[in-house]
Amino acid sequence: MIRVFGLFCKLNLINLSAHEVFLRAMLVVNILDHPCSFCSCTHPDWQKHASYERYLISFEHGHTVTYVVTITRYKCPSCGHTHAILPEHLIPYSSYSLPFILTVLRDYYTRPITVEKLCSEYGIAVSTLYAWHSLFLTHKKLWLGLLEDYISSPDTFLSELLPFPSWQLLNGFFTSMRYSFLQSGHYSFRTARSVPP
Ligand SMILES: [Zn+2]
Repeated sequence: MIRVFGLFCKLNLINLSAHEVFLRAMLVVNILDHPCSFCSCTHPDWQKHASYERYLISFEHGHTVTYVVTITRYKCPSCGHTHAILPEHLIPYSSYSLPFILTVLRDYYTRPITVEKLCSEYGIAVSTLYAWHSLFLTHKKLWLGLLEDYISSPDTFLSELLPFPSWQLLNGFFTSMRYSFLQSGHYSFRTARSVPP
């Protein structure tokens, strides 16, 4: 898998759907800028290998919206591994967009409504919310470090991440942890998986 960060700062994303953001982001991706994340070959002569479809779930204009997006896979000729290209608002192995999950968590902390009502509004199970919450607290601690994590409340940290986290921070998290922020399961990009990201 190749995560592409820093595209959004080049795009005008105002009033765009998550699907339109995805399409625009993929238009400006230059695969030649990216090394192979398996063999670290810095300038592979990437070959388009295949594509697959996955869901992208977003919250837009007060409604949960599900899109189907096409993910392109490239093959590294040096090691033969294939890599899916994922822009920054997608979370590997999750259908929900990063802004969707962050928005749900913000509402969980700030809105005076029951968890059941909140989950009903977003069309998610209560268990899903609690799983995201637990993952968020774990990754917050990894991101900030123990001391700063203790000082920074979850809602303050969330407010710094919305409407979208800084790409430098997302990239830093991915580079150090070898998995993405709010990616569950902690499958690194070197882990063989039968399910596409
Ligand atoms: Zn390679």
